Amino acid sequence: MSKMQWMLENLDCAHCASKIEDKIQKIEHIEKATVNFMTKTLILTCKEDRDLDKIEEEIKDIVHKLEPHVVVKKKVDKTNLKISPKEISCCGEHDHHHKHHTHNHCDCYHEHHEHNDEHGHSHGDGDTKKTILKLLVSGAIFTVGLIGNFKGNVELAIFLSAYIIVGGEVVLRALKNIMRGQVFDENFLMTIATFGAFATREFPEGVAVMLFYQVGELFQDIAVNKSRKSITSLMDIRPDFANVKRDGQLTKVSPEEVLVNEMIVVKPGEKVPLDGVIVEGKSMVDTSALTGESMPRHVEEGETVLSGFINQRGVICIKVSKEFGESTVSKILELVENASSRKAKAENFITKFAKYYTPAVVIIAAMLAIIPPIFIEGATVVEWLYRASIFLVISCPCALVISIPLGFFGGIGTASKYGILIKGSNYLEALNNVETVVFDKTGTLTQGIFHVTQIDATNGFNKDEVLKYAAYAESYSNHPIAISIIKEYKDKINKDQINGYEEISGYGIVVEVEGKKVLVGNNKLMYHKKIKFEEMDDVGTILYIAIDEVYAGSIVIEDTIKEDSIEAIKSLKNNQVKNIVMLTGDNEKIANKVAKELKVDKVYSELLPHEKVEKLENMDQQKTYGKNIVFVGDGINDAPVLARADIGIAMGGLGSDAAIEAADVVIMTDEPSKIATAIKISKRTKRIVIQNIIFALGVKALVLGLGAFGIANMWEAVFADVGVSIIAILNSMRILRFQK
Ligand code: ADP
Ligand code: MG
Repeated sequence: MSKMQWMLENLDCAHCASKIEDKIQKIEHIEKATVNFMTKTLILTCKEDRDLDKIEEEIKDIVHKLEPHVVVKKKVDKTNLKISPKEISCCGEHDHHHKHHTHNHCDCYHEHHEHNDEHGHSHGDGDTKKTILKLLVSGAIFTVGLIGNFKGNVELAIFLSAYIIVGGEVVLRALKNIMRGQVFDENFLMTIATFGAFATREFPEGVAVMLFYQVGELFQDIAVNKSRKSITSLMDIRPDFANVKRDGQLTKVSPEEVLVNEMIVVKPGEKVPLDGVIVEGKSMVDTSALTGESMPRHVEEGETVLSGFINQRGVICIKVSKEFGESTVSKILELVENASSRKAKAENFITKFAKYYTPAVVIIAAMLAIIPPIFIEGATVVEWLYRASIFLVISCPCALVISIPLGFFGGIGTASKYGILIKGSNYLEALNNVETVVFDKTGTLTQGIFHVTQIDATNGFNKDEVLKYAAYAESYSNHPIAISIIKEYKDKINKDQINGYEEISGYGIVVEVEGKKVLVGNNKLMYHKKIKFEEMDDVGTILYIAIDEVYAGSIVIEDTIKEDSIEAIKSLKNNQVKNIVMLTGDNEKIANKVAKELKVDKVYSELLPHEKVEKLENMDQQKTYGKNIVFVGDGINDAPVLARADIGIAMGGLGSDAAIEAADVVIMTDEPSKIATAIKISKRTKRIVIQNIIFALGVKALVLGLGAFGIANMWEAVFADVGVSIIAILNSMRILRFQK
């Protein structure tokens, strides 16, 4: 399987985007094709790497047939939400190093090359000016025609010239498309409708409707472009350059060119371009682009900084630890970009609906034009042609096709502003119907930072020995428990003395230290290994240590509940989540204590990882049909549960690749309260989407009905087409104003 991305420049029709997607999907060897209208990208997964050239040919063919003005370009860098002029090389395939040399040989896409600005919109801007000019000139002639009250051929000439100026292009496009076998598109429908008006000598109406239509289209374009810009800028965390130290000099290069272990310098005000460790300097960094957290964070020598942070104060020198493609920023951008390929049910419904709606309306229009004049006495062809053309004007489902994906995209963008990454519109939609939220305890509701509160030794061992063997045993583990023990043991650990290390998830560690067989873990581990020991009944997480089959003592460690957890659970309840459940592998006492403090409804303790999955499966069988179960974990040893839940949410995604991979939603900060925020955003998005569906379908149905009975006129039809689109787009944009 291989994945490819393409830019579809100048893509401006959402309906055509879904048609393109549909056709490309049918090309041989293509597993899945998604066209993202918002980011103008086409994402492909092919079965095999063969025939790529042929596939490329076919893609270009399809696109050019459906949308001749769209330019297909292979994406050089897959994490590139916006295209900066640097990266646009002539054919999209040359590396920009070579650009200057190849410039003269460049003949493909030549005319479009100079149209690109920072955001690829200048083409649109130029068009906009031209369109406005046309509208003004045509509008002026139209007004003269109305005021002058001319008769006969003069009247026709005046209105016809106004018509040609504003609508000539539409007619031409309609003709061109017909030649290519594309009959029923908007251009054709508007042409027929306005020709109808001219044929019935309603000249002013023919012109006015075309004018109105073009004004609507213009507003629609502006609205779509504006929303695209504001949403993508929300997610635009891509660093533009890196200052890399090479041969004692600082060179500005693009982040992709920097290698692991090179030194980069980040000055105040600049973005950290790659993940790495500070080797010199200290500063405050703004992490809000990744976490939504507005408080700047202090960083200094030895600490890790992530790409996407913004350096606020001092100059810092960083040793790069991950190449750009592996750095946090790339991971996040990739995730957000791919989000639209997982479509919400509402989106799929609209796509399906659009497929049947247009042909249905066109067929009814044809019947309206033909049948009544034949069978109804006194029905004139002219009158029924007019009614039929009203149908044609409303036959585009544009309002829905544009505004629904826009709404979801906006919802995902808004969530990312709060440090919540949602991997697909389907998950955003699913968050709307959450019945149960299941939390993992350690690291999710609690901080996952343990400290040792008590050490006991017995059978001739002393406390120092107990701690030492525990620390040696834990030295390879990254479990929060291990980290706390190692921290407590301050001395250096001689790893040469450690052999046969084995971590048993949910039990503990079995290992050989200095030739002695050491067990460190919970009571289950002791029972399992048949060690005679005294069970403690302290409240706390308890580790038992056995050395060479002899019980040596225990360590009690405690974790603190996150400040945010109580609030998180309260606000989930306020958002109609019925059950809050906590699962943990920790002992019953501590589990119950935490559960009581946080007011969770149910708690299951002393679970092994596979038992957590079983518990979740049980809950899944008992849930109400159509409702969802969310599992929230920290990504450490709960990946199977994350994957099993309807929606898996990983906390504290910063720096944890495993969590980012396994989850459907990643919360970049450590706050469980963000789950309620995500649910709120989901509800807001859904409400807007439903409003748009009802509004658009309602107005269309109304005007169709009125049109059939001869009550609605062409003006209302055009409003039901473009006017409704604009209102729906503006409504979708309200999601960006979401506030916690
Ligand atoms: P939680 O469900 O609270 O996240 P885990 O499933 O990670 O807990 O672990 C469950 C229990 O298994 C812990 O409370 C501890 O008793 C034991 N355990 C897991 N990993 C270790 C380890 N590295 N060292 C000692 N004990 C461990
Ligand atoms: Mg855990």
